[in-house]
Amino acid sequence: MARSKKNATSVASSEKQIYDLKQLLEISKSLNSVLDFSTLIEAILYTCMGQMKTLGVAIFTKKNFDASCFTLNRNYYGFELDNQFEYTIPEDHPMITLLNQQNACFTIPEIRKHMEPDRPLEGLFALHPSLIVPLKAKNHISGLLVLGEQITSEPYSEYEKEHIMNIASLAAIAINNAALIEMTTTDMMTHLKLKHYFYTILVEKLEICEPQKIPLSVLMLDIDFFKRFNDTYGHACGDVVLQMVAKVVQQNTRNQDMAARYGGEEFVVMLCDTPAPTAMKIAERIRTSIENLDILYDGQHLNLTISIGVAEYTPAIDKTAKNLVDRADKALYNSKQTGRNKVSVAE
Ligand code: GH3
Ligand code: MG
Ligand code: MG
Repeated sequence: MARSKKNATSVASSEKQIYDLKQLLEISKSLNSVLDFSTLIEAILYTCMGQMKTLGVAIFTKKNFDASCFTLNRNYYGFELDNQFEYTIPEDHPMITLLNQQNACFTIPEIRKHMEPDRPLEGLFALHPSLIVPLKAKNHISGLLVLGEQITSEPYSEYEKEHIMNIASLAAIAINNAALIEMTTTDMMTHLKLKHYFYTILVEKLEICEPQKIPLSVLMLDIDFFKRFNDTYGHACGDVVLQMVAKVVQQNTRNQDMAARYGGEEFVVMLCDTPAPTAMKIAERIRTSIENLDILYDGQHLNLTISIGVAEYTPAIDKTAKNLVDRADKALYNSKQTGRNKVSVAE
């Protein structure tokens, strides 16, 4: 009798293991199919909540390729932040070294046994997390997962810790891949996307928009008299201004849109689900924001303006993505010809 009960328990535990392995396979497939960084973070957070039965989950990653610390991603669930903390942990912090060496997850009391909390740890501990999980791939920590307590209020079991470590290693590989793609498709100076990547995504979007008759518009932007600006204030000042303009363009685009550096001082923006009249308004907002920028450089207040061309995707005319961008470029040329610092729309 006792033996058959033991057998039943072992069958149940094997079934649970097989189920969890299948889950890992599904998680691997789903995380590896996401290339966009913020969508990936969202997918990881949801996976952890579902798999670990917790309502609290957050993630620390590097904000960009050359960052030297891990920062709390603004997408998190179930934790209360206290604005006295920065929520950043240097990559050479003793806790990161500990997680890397042990390749295991830790509770807060376990971390305390190894080190006295300093400012970064005080911030982390103030979240009252139940488990800190390293995101480790290729022998490198690429971030941290922070889990709150389980819905059942039970502590995480050894089996659950092993399961989350498996999920974390899949997540770390996906994060590394997404970061690599981000790096090779981003202009390092402006942090906007590169032209070739812009075209790749534009072609994909047009294929989706056309059959569903979803409007899509493109803006072409070019800084006015930028050569003169460089000649007057120097190339280094020009670079700073280019970054400021790129930031304004980025701030005026939503997550589903895409802004790219088209060339030297030219930018292109794809506005999804946006007909020409709305695109005109957005372009006008960018134009005035740049006109009103008070640029303080080397003790001097500087100003500059930008010209913009707008074109809405029209399947009857735009046989290719390039054709649509060319029409926006022609509209931009019109803005230049008729006085600059203005927005024109393609016919
Ligand atoms: P327009 O109003 O007709 O656009 O005049 P413009 O002077 O802006 O146009 P032009 O194409 O003659 O000059 C563009 C200038 O942009 C020339 C180039 O030195 C500058 N430029 C391009 N890329 C960079 C860059 O990365 N940094 C800096 N500082 N300047 C750049
Ligand atoms: Mg130009
Ligand atoms: Mg120019």
